[in-house]
Amino acid sequence: MSGENSSADDVQADDVQRVWDVVVVGAGPAGASAAYAAAVAGRRVLLLEKAELPRYKTCGGGIIGPSRDALPPGFELPLKDRVHAVTFSNNGRFTRTRRSKQMMFGLINRPEFDQQLVEHAQKAGAELRTGAAVQRVEQHGSAVPDRRTVAVVLQGGETLLARAVVGADGSASRIGAHVGVKVDQVDLGLEAEIPVPETVAEDWKGRVLIDWGPMPGSYGWVFPKGDTLTVGVISARGEGAATKRYLEDFIARLGLAGFEPSISSGHLTRCRADDSPLSRGRVLVCGDAAGLLEPWTREGISFALRSGRLAGEWAVRIAEAHDAVDTRRQALNYAFAIKAGLGVEMSVGKRMLAVFERRPGLFHAVLTGFRPAWRAFKEITQGRTSLGELIRSHPLAQRALTAFGPEPAAKETAPTEDQADEETVTS
Ligand SMILES: Cc1cc2nc3c(=O)[nH]c(=O)nc-3n(C[C@H](O)[C@H](O)[C@H](O)COP(=O)(O)OP(=O)(O)OC[C@H]3O[C@@H](n4cnc5c(N)ncnc54)[C@H](O)[C@@H]3O)c2cc1C
Repeated sequence: MSGENSSADDVQADDVQRVWDVVVVGAGPAGASAAYAAAVAGRRVLLLEKAELPRYKTCGGGIIGPSRDALPPGFELPLKDRVHAVTFSNNGRFTRTRRSKQMMFGLINRPEFDQQLVEHAQKAGAELRTGAAVQRVEQHGSAVPDRRTVAVVLQGGETLLARAVVGADGSASRIGAHVGVKVDQVDLGLEAEIPVPETVAEDWKGRVLIDWGPMPGSYGWVFPKGDTLTVGVISARGEGAATKRYLEDFIARLGLAGFEPSISSGHLTRCRADDSPLSRGRVLVCGDAAGLLEPWTREGISFALRSGRLAGEWAVRIAEAHDAVDTRRQALNYAFAIKAGLGVEMSVGKRMLAVFERRPGLFHAVLTGFRPAWRAFKEITQGRTSLGELIRSHPLAQRALTAFGPEPAAKETAPTEDQADEETVTS
């Protein structure tokens, strides 16, 4: 949908008279989810997206159980494939395929999936405006008429007003910089969309490949989507050349080097530090903008959908708050809800990553050779259990995490408002 469809003129004319209850910045899964949640609560919601939709997003498009469970009612997943088998390899060696009778997870193309989510938010009553890049938000000063209002300033200078703002503008978030999001893990993901002939596509149908990579904490994947394979790798930031080489070697090893990628791109992912804020005044952050992402697998769609919904629900309460005390109370409630759920999952994920970084070989051996570990992997992807639940209920797993995990890494900060937006390179 384009800016014209959302009738930008009407939106502006309306704004002269009224203040939006909730303005959501960014129309990825987090933003669409937040807009949906606030709109079904009957509030006036504006969803701002800098791109025109559908837009490309560097992502494997793996939809695990928790993502499926967090979709709005009536949402039909535009699945490109259903995964029933996983081939694991350890840097190209010790390859082993494990199969599951039941579907483990699904694969989607992000442009289509994200657009469908936005359409659901629109059906619930949210208004969409595309081609609208937010430059900054202001909670004090001349642009803000009163203490209950936030000014959302677009590139070009136009100002919109809202009672509450949800920042869902991805990993290079401007709103995250405003809130002061702190991160302690930054990774670089590189991906190629590779169109393949029918015979090759047939060989991959229903099966993904996961390769534990040569750099600590890195891994690669092949996710089949019909006539195209999404092939990617992810590793800690700071090793760009080695990460690029890993992707090239990985593609060559799989015999896919002869096929020209239709898109090659890279994107940074950021995980929040435990003490990172999730709000500032009337502004909440969710999804990648808040650094909410599973640290080991870097799975982020379910984190975006779940935190987006919570942010939308709490933004409604903040919009209704009459003073700073009530605003603060609602913002703390939002933070509590995030920390009690996704926060717990993230802290287990960080410990898993620490073990995986040290012992990828052991990880591979356990997953491919120890039936309960494979069953656990299957059940996590299916959404029948979570990593946190599993660790809590299995003393042996708990002991292994403690025995092999090192101290947590030092903290880094999220990008400044100037650095934001400069993360995605598409060639
Ligand atoms: C290589 C790679 C592979 C991945 N694979 C998977 C996977 O298979 N499964 C999984 O679950 N997760 C995966 N992830 C993570 C997942 O892609 C993200 O966690 C997820 O996209 C987060 O959703 P979001 O809505 O928070 O942000 P995004 O999807 O990034 O959406 C943010 C939106 O905000 C818009 N925006 C940005 N700035 C502004 C602005 N100033 N004004 C207005 N709009 C703005 C952007 O255009 C974008 O549409 C992967 C990530 C990478 C890097």
